[in-house]
Amino acid sequence: MPNGLTSAEAGNRLKTYGYNELISAKSKNIWHIVLEVMREPMFMLLISCGLLYMFLGNYREGGTLLSTILIIIYITFYQYRKTEKALEALRKLSSPRALVIRDGKEMRIPGREVVPGDLVKINEGDRIAADARILQTGNLTIDESLLTGESMPVLKSADTAIKTKNQVFSGTLVVQGSGLVEVTATGVHTEFGKIGSMLHGIERKTTRLQKEMKVLIRNLFIISAFICIGVIVAFYLTRGNFLHSLLNGLATAMAILPEEFPVVLTIFMALGAWRLSKKKVLTRDPTAIETLGSATVLCSDKTGTITQNRMDVAALFISENVINRDEFDLHQTNLNQLLQSARFASSPDTVDPMEKAINEIASRFDSTENPTITFIREYPLSKDFFAMTRVVKNSVGQSIAYTKGAPEAVLSCCQISDDEKGRYHSAVKQMAERGLRVLAVGNTAVDENSLPENQREFKLNFEGLIGFEDPIRPEVPQAIKECKEAGIKVIMITGDYPETARSIGLQIGLDPGKKLLTGDELNELTDAELAGKIEEVNIIARVVPEQKLRIVQAFKANNEIVAMTGDGVNDAPALKAANIGIAMGNKGTDVAREASSLVLLDDNFASIVGAIRSGRKIFDNLQKAMSYIIAIHIPIIGLALLPAFVSSIPLLLMPLHIVFMELIIDPVCSVAFESEQEEKGLMQRPPRKPEEKFFGSRKILLSSLDGLFLFGMVVGIYFLSIHEGHSDGEVRAIAFSSLIIGNLFLILSLLSRTRNFIAVFKERNMPVIIIMSAALILLFLVLTIPPLQKLFSFEFPGYRHFGTALLGSGSVLMVLELTKRLKKYVRGY
Ligand code: ADP
Ligand code: MG
Repeated sequence: MPNGLTSAEAGNRLKTYGYNELISAKSKNIWHIVLEVMREPMFMLLISCGLLYMFLGNYREGGTLLSTILIIIYITFYQYRKTEKALEALRKLSSPRALVIRDGKEMRIPGREVVPGDLVKINEGDRIAADARILQTGNLTIDESLLTGESMPVLKSADTAIKTKNQVFSGTLVVQGSGLVEVTATGVHTEFGKIGSMLHGIERKTTRLQKEMKVLIRNLFIISAFICIGVIVAFYLTRGNFLHSLLNGLATAMAILPEEFPVVLTIFMALGAWRLSKKKVLTRDPTAIETLGSATVLCSDKTGTITQNRMDVAALFISENVINRDEFDLHQTNLNQLLQSARFASSPDTVDPMEKAINEIASRFDSTENPTITFIREYPLSKDFFAMTRVVKNSVGQSIAYTKGAPEAVLSCCQISDDEKGRYHSAVKQMAERGLRVLAVGNTAVDENSLPENQREFKLNFEGLIGFEDPIRPEVPQAIKECKEAGIKVIMITGDYPETARSIGLQIGLDPGKKLLTGDELNELTDAELAGKIEEVNIIARVVPEQKLRIVQAFKANNEIVAMTGDGVNDAPALKAANIGIAMGNKGTDVAREASSLVLLDDNFASIVGAIRSGRKIFDNLQKAMSYIIAIHIPIIGLALLPAFVSSIPLLLMPLHIVFMELIIDPVCSVAFESEQEEKGLMQRPPRKPEEKFFGSRKILLSSLDGLFLFGMVVGIYFLSIHEGHSDGEVRAIAFSSLIIGNLFLILSLLSRTRNFIAVFKERNMPVIIIMSAALILLFLVLTIPPLQKLFSFEFPGYRHFGTALLGSGSVLMVLELTKRLKKYVRGY
């Protein structure tokens, strides 16, 4: 192997040439955020209110209002940083990798660290990281449509005669073959970089949720505009002072402006993706987070995802006997022949775990260094013949074809009696029933000058069978059980032999009562027949990746929401077609990754189930946050409207009060609801129906009822205090504290649907606890410290009166908790 650059040299070049990327996405600084905040309607309202106060001569109120802008900028900044950090972590994880040779070693580095002069190995399915010159190729075929618009892949070679033929370009795709290339240009200096800025930034799809949210926000916006105008007019009519009416109208606008919705949505999605990445699942498409909770079918590859892809040789079959691992040494001489043949039938520098296992055990039995052989030709594994053949010439000049592959395929080429075939097949079955993956091995002497076109035409001598053990991942059975409870069907898909698949199916706890379908049977069925039949199937064996697309389509025809895993180039169409395409991060190709919406960083089936779980949780919490936003706005709107219509009572909510409320509401609905634990029975309920609205009228109504209830309580206390003959300032103080405490209790209750509010403290949802304590302390301060009192137009009514506020809010909490129990009882979990 060539040495490539030294790491020191690579480091230097990275300094000279910069990172291999187009325009780097700079994160926003504080001024960008200030600018962004200034564009918000909320900001305009605050400024207008502040100025109006100034104009009216209330400098202190005006000044305070204007300075709260700083706090709001801070909160925005904090939320932004939190999202940005999450997204940055994700970007790092998802940046494509390149296989380079440095210091004489192969290593995978982030594509952005590739420098000119690097030696890069490229393989089928890779997206090329930089412009490069080809040094070696094996049938390297590249799709350059991204650059040239030409959809036909082009064959490359190291031949220097035609200039572009021995070059590969950044951003193009290896469709077939492999090669070793030397990087000539990186970043903006690549061909892609020259035209690339227009392609900068991946186009983001708007999700269903975003669309729904947009409509909701627009409707709320219209409603709030009407309400504000109503408030201004009503105030003017009842109290007659236009400037004050305007002030109150603006304050109402501040209170009901649904500006939390989009913020909450962005934060939940970004943090959600980040949380998924902690569970080893990378989100490429934000819609996936939404869809996860609706998944009804989970199609998973067996090898490597459900199993560990370790492949140990566990049994061998030779001259009518199955020999198990512990007896290998006794039969060493007999087995040697079989293992050497299997080794000759494998590529020498292979990455295939089966071939590695063969190499390892074969060299253990026969330590003679590589017998002198010359390679003549290879017939690769093909999708209609699961076997591969290598023709080699040995030291005495004999040409021999060595074949290994699926027993059906190899045995069909062997010149043996039906009787023998029957016996061998039952040996295969016997091994497969133990869950072993079985390969048959055969060989034949050939004339190197008249080799057949297809490996099927070889007339082989049967040598024996090799059984590989590929243990299941230990966490899979539990994950399968979870799926079952959560109403998600699991389908195992494999190119393996049916009996092997069945045995693995049993080990992981798939329902043995369901059927197994083979690729050949699948080919015989029409689309409609397949759709009818597929619901009774849970294992599909001897399939090739191309057939996965039909499987996805069959499920989709039955209105299922399908998640499908895959890793190779041929998996891409199925991954794209699936509702949730899941690519493998370790062994997967770039093509598969690009076609998917999720990437499994650890290739583990259990991680998918973990992601579904997180998806459901994120959705729950988002829904709860939305419920809260709706609910809390009801009393605010009510309290703003009430004095407009009843002119005899003191004003309650002035702009400052509203800002105070907003300062609690904002962080609560983003951070506090986001970090709430999952609901009980999260994975025992059926998948969410995809057509069901995320926030339908029923939910809006129920949340409004919660809010109305709180409103009723505050109004009750308000009138009670008026009735008791308190001064305006005292009434305000009492009513406001009951609103704030009631609000905190509302949060406590809405945080969970299935657990009672004490759980929040037990589970230490720190953001909630911090926000609540801060709110209570602040409330205490504004009620008791004279300058603050004045600012808020409060008078201290004596501690006794907070008893009423507490009692009132406490009863709200109790009723909310009771209805929660009732709903839980009705729902049944
Ligand atoms: P899976 O879907 O379980 O990963 P594959 O599609 O990789 O299965 O393989 C399908 C079948 O092709 C295997 O069961 C085996 O019979 C045969 N096969 C796979 N790899 C090789 C190989 N390197 N040499 C010979 N035969 C192979
Ligand atoms: Mg495979």
